[in-house]
Amino acid sequence: MDLISIGYGVVALLGLAMGSFAGATVWRIRARQLLQDKAAKEKHDPAELKRLRPLTKANLISDRSQCLHCHHTLSWYDLLPVVSWLSTNGKCRYCHKPIGRFEPLIEVGTALAFVAFYWHWVTTFGFGTGILWVLFGLWLVALVMLAILFAYDAKWFLLPDRVMVPLIAVSIVLFFFHVNLSSLGEATITGPLLSGLGGILILGGLYLLLWFISKGQWVGFGDVKLGLALGLLLADWRLAFLALFLANLIGVLFVIPGLVSKKLSRRSQVPFGPFLIAGFGVSLVWGYALLGWYDQLSLWLYSVTLMV
Ligand SMILES: [Zn+2]
Repeated sequence: MDLISIGYGVVALLGLAMGSFAGATVWRIRARQLLQDKAAKEKHDPAELKRLRPLTKANLISDRSQCLHCHHTLSWYDLLPVVSWLSTNGKCRYCHKPIGRFEPLIEVGTALAFVAFYWHWVTTFGFGTGILWVLFGLWLVALVMLAILFAYDAKWFLLPDRVMVPLIAVSIVLFFFHVNLSSLGEATITGPLLSGLGGILILGGLYLLLWFISKGQWVGFGDVKLGLALGLLLADWRLAFLALFLANLIGVLFVIPGLVSKKLSRRSQVPFGPFLIAGFGVSLVWGYALLGWYDQLSLWLYSVTLMV
């Protein structure tokens, strides 16, 4: 076995562990959000706050996880991603209340995202050395934050700043490295820089415009910040455009069956963050392949029209 193949296993296990961390963090942020809403006298569910309140004492990053029902501190063998869940049939080992499907889903989802990204990385750069691995690590940090935002927005229609602000910070660092790397083969840095800025304008600027025109009715300001972060991460106007297109496509594919089966009505609130993140993911990993096919197709159509 070569290093790249071993890497897949390592990255998958790391993804499961980080997905487990992301799942626990989602609940801790939720608990803090509820406390904040209460302090600001905003609408909140007192029963939910009562249930999650013990989590507000836990450190956001370093504390051991606990059961959301009985608040028993979980042991290492309760924290084995997916395995623990399967071994207790999805129930808490201590109070036997169901844990829900959220935890295994975010663990498996994060692991799949890690593996897909690793595939993209090693096919682009090979196994690489030094600084490339630092960048790869930063990317994984960004992916974990995106997993938290995805889950949080899907559950509560909100993209919390506690995750968004560090994500934008990491995205800015990655943006400048990306522009620098892309300019290596070119005469000047101007082309890659303009392309990157174009991507930010497409993903962040469009949402800013929609937010401004509708006074926050069509899109939330969280979507504007998410668009900015994703534009920075893609650092390429064509990939940004593709991500936006895919996000809308995935959104429509998701909403139509819901409307047909009457699970959703025209007035239902649908968070856009998860679609945007999904579109971004596909564009990040398969974007250049998709754009390549599109170029070939248009070239082919062009030659057909010439023949006619
Ligand atoms: Zn329990």
